[in-house]
Amino acid sequence: MARIGIPSALLYYIYYPFWLTFFNEIGVQVVTSGRTTKNILDKGVREALADACVPIKLFFGHVMDLKDKADYLFIPRVVCLNGKTIYCPKFLGLPDMIRHSLDDIPPIIDVRIDTRQGRLSLIKAYLEIGSYFGASRNTVLRAYCLARAALRRYNLLLMKGFSPIEAMELIKNPDNKKLVLPPKANLRFAVLGYPYAIYDSFISVNILDKLKKMGVNVLTAENINPLLLSLQKNCGLPKRLFWTFSDKALKAAHYLFRHDRVDAVLHLTAFGCGPDSLLNKFIELEAKQHRDIPFMTLMIDEHTGEAGMATRLEAFVDMVRRRKEAFACQN
Ligand code: SF4
Repeated sequence: MARIGIPSALLYYIYYPFWLTFFNEIGVQVVTSGRTTKNILDKGVREALADACVPIKLFFGHVMDLKDKADYLFIPRVVCLNGKTIYCPKFLGLPDMIRHSLDDIPPIIDVRIDTRQGRLSLIKAYLEIGSYFGASRNTVLRAYCLARAALRRYNLLLMKGFSPIEAMELIKNPDNKKLVLPPKANLRFAVLGYPYAIYDSFISVNILDKLKKMGVNVLTAENINPLLLSLQKNCGLPKRLFWTFSDKALKAAHYLFRHDRVDAVLHLTAFGCGPDSLLNKFIELEAKQHRDIPFMTLMIDEHTGEAGMATRLEAFVDMVRRRKEAFACQN
């Protein structure tokens, strides 16, 4: 059975359940690089371009980890999946960056996926992927439908409040009774940013777990119903942001500040990210219009230390908790 390697980075946190189902249904074994470790990050930093953002460096590290474990690497050129916004240019050039930077890697499956090219473009892309493994048209179409169903189940779990890692585990093992949502806490924070930064516990220095341990319920853009986000339109701008994840993060900020009473908003931004230089400013401007909701930006890079992040988070949570208690006493 052929083995396809899927790096556990970037779009992994959004589409892995789809890809896993699709490849398994066409008779291909999926191998992933697993959780990020210091070793993976170090390999990525060594191999990637020096001025790349940290999520891209991490992707390089995950590819290095997979290169001897798989017959093919799955690095599609994902341009657009909603017919409206496109992914950051680094996503578009990802297969080329990997191919021209790393030696001795398995063949890359880099099918272009762009739903602006017609309603059937997604199915066509998966038919092309299936052709690498000799899968028949009917097998691919069946696998595609089952993969869509798996992705729907995954997104419903995210909307209930589970993190991607928990939701993937629940899809694999629906009877896992250990995975339950945390009880309602006194504080509820929104954490905004790109899913591949927030949910990678190594590079985000475990921000979500740290907040949970401090007694804070956490909400991310993935936990919000996409319909509510789409209602935010262009967030008061003349036109929407071009990049898919930036557009989603801004819509989430707009929705959370205006319609969902969270106690604070944190924006996790990645060092070296071009779109973030714009996005962070827009979120800051939105925060300034809602001074009753504390806001903080945290920047991560390959040198972010556990202790420094913990200290900043503790101080912020403490400040928000005292402020809330003071307001409760006044009223
Ligand atoms: S959006 Fe920013 S962090 Fe994400 S890949 Fe592009 S440059 Fe890197």
